[in-house]
Amino acid sequence: MTEQAQKAGFETRAIHAGQDPDPTTGAVIPPIYATSTYKQDGVGGLRNGYEYSRSANPTRTALEECIAALEEGERGFAFASGLAAEDTLLRALCRPGDHVVIPDDAYGGSYRLFKKVAEPWGLNHTPAQVADVDAVRAAIQPGTTKLVWVETPTNPLLNIGDIAAIASVAHDAGALLVVDNTFASPYLQQPLTLGADIVVHSTTKYCGGHSDVVGGALVVRDHEVAEQLAFHQNSIGGVAGPFDSFLVLRGLRTLGVRMDRHCDNAEKVVEFLQGHDAVSQVIYPGLEEHPGHTVASKQMKRYGGIVSFRVKDGEQRALDACAKANVFTLGESLGGVESLIEHPGRMTHASVAGTELEVPADLVRLSVGIETADDLIADLDQALAG
Ligand SMILES: *Cc1c(COP(=O)(O)O)cnc(C)c1O
Repeated sequence: MTEQAQKAGFETRAIHAGQDPDPTTGAVIPPIYATSTYKQDGVGGLRNGYEYSRSANPTRTALEECIAALEEGERGFAFASGLAAEDTLLRALCRPGDHVVIPDDAYGGSYRLFKKVAEPWGLNHTPAQVADVDAVRAAIQPGTTKLVWVETPTNPLLNIGDIAAIASVAHDAGALLVVDNTFASPYLQQPLTLGADIVVHSTTKYCGGHSDVVGGALVVRDHEVAEQLAFHQNSIGGVAGPFDSFLVLRGLRTLGVRMDRHCDNAEKVVEFLQGHDAVSQVIYPGLEEHPGHTVASKQMKRYGGIVSFRVKDGEQRALDACAKANVFTLGESLGGVESLIEHPGRMTHASVAGTELEVPADLVRLSVGIETADDLIADLDQALAG
């Protein structure tokens, strides 16, 4: 992409970054390069550096350049899943005996990676509330803490961490700030521009956007960190394949329009839920009473498509609502065009039951899709009827 296109607006970058028409055929869309290896022009004579598809594949390169441009980073890396990206990141930047600060309501799978996989290898962690900068500072062990890991908004309680403030706390202690930007997507929030060092994505969610692919990505702004990640991406090998890369890249092209519709619909759903008798609390960073509202307004373009709420009559009512919903499909995951409903306590967050990360039993989480808003509201209305 030309320098001019690098500086272009978000939607232009989404459609053009890393996606010049194919030089051989003029194909407008980067092809799925279903190849494991590449012909060399004489020994060591690589064409554009391509040698073997674990190391690099042109379809994956297109995705990596695009997501790096969207996050305004130096370099992007695409993986087979969000957790593969996280595992690679931990192994590239941490060693046994090191320490990481993690959110006290981290994504369940990330928590499991820290607790059940990384900890037995000697990487220790301390959970801290991301909404409380002082708590994050107190959890840091200067010299030993290598990474401060933040999700914002968090899952499923939508707590907000102040990225700029936490970046300075991390940097004061010689640690790097990692932001899992899955919930916001690069359209709503660009952590690297706020001082973060590394962005993590489960591209399975909003980036892919159509619930048809599992993938992950890392974007960094520092050249040396990029080199370490590139080495570990190739050495560990949890890369995104060309078919998956194609799907994620196709999703990214429409990220901006999809996110705006997700946000429009979420705002309407929030308004409806706030007026509903069976609902005791609506959790959405766009609400003025949300404790993270001011920070969210500062660092996010809009407030996203995830809405959580608590019901008045306890767990059974929450389970009933999940069971009765129709247009909202009962299922895990989030960020696709279709609306999903789930019960975090029994589903996505079942693995943290009984730990310090446990979530309330009367909590329901919605991933508000881009269907007709009136249909979503009518569906919630019948699902919540007593
Ligand atoms: C889904 C998710 C992940 C894990 O990504 P996978 O693609 O499922 O491996 C990590 N962080 C957040 C916030 C997620 O929602």
